[in-house]
Amino acid sequence: MRIYNFSAGPAALPVPVLEQASKELVSYGSAGMSVMEMSHRSKSYEDIHNAALELLRELMNVPANYKIMMLQGGASQQFAMIPMNLAKNGKADFVVTGEWSNRAYKEASKVLSAKIAATSEAEKFGVIPEIKEISADADYLHICTNNTICGTRFTQIPDTGKVPLVADMSSGILSEVFDVSKFGLIYAGAQKNIGPAGVTVVIIREDLLENEKAAKLPAFLQYKTHADANSMYNTPPTYAIYMTKLCLEWLKSQGGVAGIQKINEAKAKILYDFLDSSSLFKGIAAPSHRSLMNIPFTTGDDEKDKQFTKEAATEGFANLGGHRLVGGLRASIYNAMPTEGVQALVDFMKKFEAK
Ligand SMILES: *Cc1c(COP(=O)(O)O)cnc(C)c1O
Repeated sequence: MRIYNFSAGPAALPVPVLEQASKELVSYGSAGMSVMEMSHRSKSYEDIHNAALELLRELMNVPANYKIMMLQGGASQQFAMIPMNLAKNGKADFVVTGEWSNRAYKEASKVLSAKIAATSEAEKFGVIPEIKEISADADYLHICTNNTICGTRFTQIPDTGKVPLVADMSSGILSEVFDVSKFGLIYAGAQKNIGPAGVTVVIIREDLLENEKAAKLPAFLQYKTHADANSMYNTPPTYAIYMTKLCLEWLKSQGGVAGIQKINEAKAKILYDFLDSSSLFKGIAAPSHRSLMNIPFTTGDDEKDKQFTKEAATEGFANLGGHRLVGGLRASIYNAMPTEGVQALVDFMKKFEAK
């Protein structure tokens, strides 16, 4: 029996996707073999690969002067690859809004001169700070659009002028409409809102693809290598990409990103409205910057929080514990979490509160 899985990642996948994958697991179409067993140079696999790339372009409305890549190494590898490839002047600005953007800043510091342009550390990352100044000669400014751990999100994308905007969108990609043309580079590990773990999507504006310094990097670490090879420089994570394609087809059937955004807004509102009215549970992020995907909350009492996760688990609500760095509780409600799941969680929270 399926339960409601509120994991922050790897996260729940749409049930129709899992069902289709299970039908095609042993033999894909007329191929007589599983996608997992196919040569990545075969026609069957190439069709899957290109369909996934095309669906990403279509769903995110990615302009023609951007390349889309499907890489490995997770968002964490991008923390290193971005400064290595984009550092022309050797300077970059960072908006630190939580653990992940802080890691991006720290990793980049090893490669270039990194500056914190704004941080909400003093507010315990419960808000998105205002960016007062951007270094004019920065190679890029880095933000994390949705903060998976503290549950905040950029409700407005900053205007960085000529400085390319780089965004870690791991937990927010495909959940709401973004104007890709505002960004120089977007990256996201798939395991939150794209598909299963193992593939990382990178969308890059073509003028950022190469420069003299980047050309000296080992081939595998250069974006240009992967862009030129259509993300097949070496063996790609074929099965993860196949699953990604199925998830993107499912998303298209939900009305695309604009369609799912409406659903996501209504879904998050169910939980936020309850948190705002509850006398036991409280939301953590500032209402002005609340995430649609990751909702941290707490009873204010560690023991009660633990009791809640325990009882919730026995009722079929899994993974409601907060991130190990911050504790408390958190419900991650990505695209694949049905509205009924959030409604059922709120009903359970009401019962718990009444007790
Ligand atoms: C999960 C997450 C990461 C880390 O992703 P990996 O693919 O495990 O490296 C980075 N940034 C954000 C915003 C995340 O949610």
